[in-house]
Amino acid sequence: MFRPKRIIFEKDSLDYEMGKNIFSMFKDNDNVEIINLTSNRVKQHIPGNDLFIQYREGKKTLVVGTKKTLKFQTCKPSAHYQLPLVSGCMGQCEYCYLNTQLGDKPFVKVHTNIDDILNQAQKYINERLPDITIFEGAATSDPIPVEPYTNSLKKAIEFFGKETNARFRFVTKYNDIESLLNLEHNGHTEVRFSINTSLVIDKYEHFTASRDKRIEAAIKVAESGYPVGFLIAPIFIYPSFKEDYHDLLLELSEKLPSNLKFPVTFEVISHRYTMVAKNRILQVFPESELPMNEEERKFKYGQFGYGKYVYEKESIREIKEFFSKEIEELFKNKKVLYII
Ligand code: SF4
Repeated sequence: MFRPKRIIFEKDSLDYEMGKNIFSMFKDNDNVEIINLTSNRVKQHIPGNDLFIQYREGKKTLVVGTKKTLKFQTCKPSAHYQLPLVSGCMGQCEYCYLNTQLGDKPFVKVHTNIDDILNQAQKYINERLPDITIFEGAATSDPIPVEPYTNSLKKAIEFFGKETNARFRFVTKYNDIESLLNLEHNGHTEVRFSINTSLVIDKYEHFTASRDKRIEAAIKVAESGYPVGFLIAPIFIYPSFKEDYHDLLLELSEKLPSNLKFPVTFEVISHRYTMVAKNRILQVFPESELPMNEEERKFKYGQFGYGKYVYEKESIREIKEFFSKEIEELFKNKKVLYII
C-alpha cells in the first residue's frame, strides 16, 4: 500500500467524494505534508534539482486531481482503450517503462472524477456495439497500491461486471487486493500479476510486493473467480535462471485452485532495453547492475519504430523452449499468449 510523504490536492479535487475521503484520511497525519493547490502546477511542490532526487521525491508524492480530457488513449494490441484511473506508481523498478514514459513527473496521480471516466467508457462501448470493447487499467500505472484510498478499481470492476459487451484488465506487482475479492465481477475483469524470481525482484524491483505476497494475492483473486494471468517479465538469463523460474512456475501450479473457471494466461517477455531507457535508468540508478551491455545483445527494430537491444537469437530460442515446456507440463487449464 502506498504511504505518501506528501499529498497535493489539485484545484477542484476536493469537490469529489474521493478527494474528500483522501483528505480526511490524512489531514491529521503529521508524517504527511498536505498541499492544496490553487493552480494545477504540481511539479514546483516536488523537491529536487536533478532527476535522481526528483524521481525519489516524485515517487513519494500522491497527486489528487481530475481527469480533464476524457478522450481515452488507444492501447493496442492488448486492449482497445486505456482506462485512465491512475497514472504513475510508487514502485522503483529499475527497468520500468514509466521511467521513460513519465519522465520527470514520476508522481502517482489519482483521478477523482471516476463517474465521468466510467460514463466515457460507456460511450466507447456503445460506439463499438455489438463488438466487445476491452479496457486496460494499468497502461501508465500500477493502480493497486492506491486502491485502498480510491476504490477506483472496485467501481470499475462493478461497472464492467454489468456490461455484457466490455471487458477490463489490469496488471500489478502488489497485493492490496482484499477489497476486490467479493465484488460482482461476472468474470469480466482479468487480473494479471507481474511476477519474477526472488533474485530478480529483490535486486531490481524496489518498493514492490515480494514474490510470495504476489503469489498469495493471485491465489485469492483466482479463488474469487476472476480470470487470472501472469506476466513473467522481464526474463533474465543468469546462472540458475532455469531452476528459479521452474520453482516459481511449480509453486504457482501447486497453489492455484484446480477448478479454475477460466484458463490462466501467461505472457512471457525476455529483457530488452532501448538506448533512451538505458540512459535514463543510469541517471536514476547510477549503481544499477541491470545487464545492459550492447555487445551481448542483438539490435532489433520494434513495431513502434524505435530500436531495442534484445537477447541473442539462440538465447531467445532457449527461453521460448524452456517456458513452453514448463508451462505445458505444469498447468492444465492455461493459455500462453506469447513468449518473446
Ligand atoms: S511496479 Fe510496475 S509500474 Fe510500478 S515501478 Fe515497477 S514496473 Fe513500474
